[in-house]
Amino acid sequence: MKQIDQMRRRAARYLDVEAVTIAPSTGVFSLSFDDIPVTAWTEAGPVLAEHGVKATYYVCGGLAGGVNMDRDQFRVEHLQALHAAGHEVGCHTFGHTSALRMDAEALRLSLDANAAWVAERLDGYRMTTFAWPFGDATVGAKRVVRERFALGRGVRDGINAGREDRALIRSIGLESRRLPGYDLEGLMAEAAAAKGWLTAYGHDVSDRPTDYGCTPDDLDRVLRLAKAAGLDVLPVSAAWAVVTHP
Ligand SMILES: [Zn+2]
Repeated sequence: MKQIDQMRRRAARYLDVEAVTIAPSTGVFSLSFDDIPVTAWTEAGPVLAEHGVKATYYVCGGLAGGVNMDRDQFRVEHLQALHAAGHEVGCHTFGHTSALRMDAEALRLSLDANAAWVAERLDGYRMTTFAWPFGDATVGAKRVVRERFALGRGVRDGINAGREDRALIRSIGLESRRLPGYDLEGLMAEAAAAKGWLTAYGHDVSDRPTDYGCTPDDLDRVLRLAKAAGLDVLPVSAAWAVVTHP
């Protein structure tokens, strides 16, 4: 049964594709942080500032001030500070619930709640991009996400180039469990050569990260490699504006 469920999950992710053409004039790299553990701002923020780049922070209002995956999460003042510093804030549902556990109506309510929560704390700010909790997407949920956001970012490896699913943009995990398996230099070079869009997501950032996090040095290295490859480094929504051709 479990296997069938897994197959269904995998199949559902790829059905009902609304393709978009990703073809920037130069390769682009976007960095994002999901859930926003406090260190994604306190540790990563200075690295981003040093490189003079902006990232995208995918927020769940329901995680504010709490603990997730054994790490302290952001507080409202961190969200306000990163927003004021010019980083993008994107939507990650209100309660960090998998799309597999919500019908379309429950997802809409969750998105409404998160939009209201963020607007209230960021002076009416409206989020325009979305990241799937756990990377889980369904046909019905993708429809809802397409109605409301420019794109949905998943956790599927690879470079976005040519025809891609607007509701399931590829992304590599800046995660200690995954990083050793990536040829980052090769990926950056490929994104530059193919004139594609490489996106990455992380969580906590510390010298002793969780399996889902990375170190400040990892982050520094990723940004150095992106620049060395000649990629433009832009937050997700700003990247979207330059990578898409309908
Ligand atoms: Zn998440």
